[in-house]
Amino acid sequence: MVSRVIPVDVFDLVIFGGTGDLARRKILPGLFRRFLAGQMPPDSRIIGAARADLDADAWRDMVREGIDSFGGPELRGHDSLPAFLRQLDYVSVDATVEEGWPKLAALMRPDVVRAFYFSVAPGLFGALAERLHQHAIADQGSRIVVEKPFGRDLDSARALNRTLAEHFREDQIYRIDHYLGKETVQNLMAVRFGNILFEPLWNNHYVDHIQITVAETVGVEGRGGYYDKSGAMRDMVQNHLMQLLCLIAMEPPAQFEAGAVRDEKLKVIRALKPVPAHHIVRGQYDANHEAPSYRDEAGNPRSFTESFIAIRAEIANWRWSGVPFYLRTGKKLRARHSEIAVVFKDLPHSIFEGDERRHRNILSIRLQPNEGIDLTVTIKEPGPGGMRLIDRPLDMTFAKALGEEAAEAPDAYERLIMDVIRGNQTLFMRGDEVEAAWAWTDPIIEGWEKRNDVPKLYDSGSSGPDDALMLLHREGRRWRDIRA
Ligand code: NAD
Repeated sequence: MVSRVIPVDVFDLVIFGGTGDLARRKILPGLFRRFLAGQMPPDSRIIGAARADLDADAWRDMVREGIDSFGGPELRGHDSLPAFLRQLDYVSVDATVEEGWPKLAALMRPDVVRAFYFSVAPGLFGALAERLHQHAIADQGSRIVVEKPFGRDLDSARALNRTLAEHFREDQIYRIDHYLGKETVQNLMAVRFGNILFEPLWNNHYVDHIQITVAETVGVEGRGGYYDKSGAMRDMVQNHLMQLLCLIAMEPPAQFEAGAVRDEKLKVIRALKPVPAHHIVRGQYDANHEAPSYRDEAGNPRSFTESFIAIRAEIANWRWSGVPFYLRTGKKLRARHSEIAVVFKDLPHSIFEGDERRHRNILSIRLQPNEGIDLTVTIKEPGPGGMRLIDRPLDMTFAKALGEEAAEAPDAYERLIMDVIRGNQTLFMRGDEVEAAWAWTDPIIEGWEKRNDVPKLYDSGSSGPDDALMLLHREGRRWRDIRA
């Protein structure tokens, strides 16, 4: 099967922070893959803009190295790389000084899509927005892409929204959450809203509970300084996990369109109940004989920052009343494993005599590894000996089910950047959504600060602190295994 690539209009994409880690690891390898897929019109340009005093050739070398190191074996030393690099240019600019900006202004062309990727620290967003206007580099049709973290609490997120709004309309602002660009996450919407099968069951009559897990094996590594001021709640829950929760829990939007989808997500966030302290478990990884502790890695021996969090959340509306949403994320866990599991209720009555095991249908949406969806169903164990029941998944691993087409699917960053060029905001967060998410997380974080809450230690390579297991055990439930 051949994948269908929808061409986009000719564009100029300026990457502020073009020499940075994110640009070299994710954005530029992703753009090269879109180039190879034939999605980058020949007249389009990618312009790196950063503080480093480089010429275009030196930046191209840097991009080549980035693609070789982070683009995977299929991109390394690719024959088409020189052609891609010819579409790249570089301007040295500092967001805080005047120099360089007239040169960037002179590079802008009329009648092409202009997009500006702010891949820099959020403290620079205001200065960049200001200069783009001052030098008439941005026009009415320009789009800006902003990275996380979008604020560190409600007040700072509001301030950031106000700053951007001074220069850009909401329909020009693309707040990126790369989880929304993942193939499986979009498939979650296709499964929910493209099949008649699930919607009648998608409520508190049939769903027992929902689990959302994002487990990483890595620690904080080089990001310790940033992470220690943030923690798992700000770094993962307020954005990625809450976005996943919204897509699972939202009402069907009237159309798959930015305004309609984002309205429904916002309603979910606003319906989240405040979380009592005993419904939250914070953890921090400890040292073992092979690996340092969180505190060692973060360089802060007195740190109380959480590298793990588990939350029992509830949504106060007709559809979900009484259904727990268990969210869990952490570093240095047993495996790299992200999954959303919709666990359906037990049968009201079993007709099979002697079958005392609990059989449950579970719809599992795996984000990584082996992206795919499976539905656990109860079937008869083959062979003689009467009706013995077993649970088996109906497997929809995309790589198996779709073969080449799945392998060619763009990764999250590529897809989202192409959506920016197309002007499609459906998979981006709106300003009011981000603020509502902070309004839910702020009181939780403030509670910890007031109580001087100390995270529970857990072993590297485990499933997190034992208390997190208890969060479900005490309600007769258990977490799904974290496994590779
Ligand atoms: P980085 O420190 O590696 O790079 C920062 C870039 O900003 C460099 O290109 C630098 O030249 C440029 N810069 C710094 N000061 C500047 C100034 N005054 N004017 C113009 N340019 C300036 O950072 P990064 O890891 O690439 O992260 C960039 C943004 O993306 C941050 O907001 C970060 O939170 C976010 N982010 C990064 C990752 C990641 O994996 N690295 C993931 C998610 C979000």
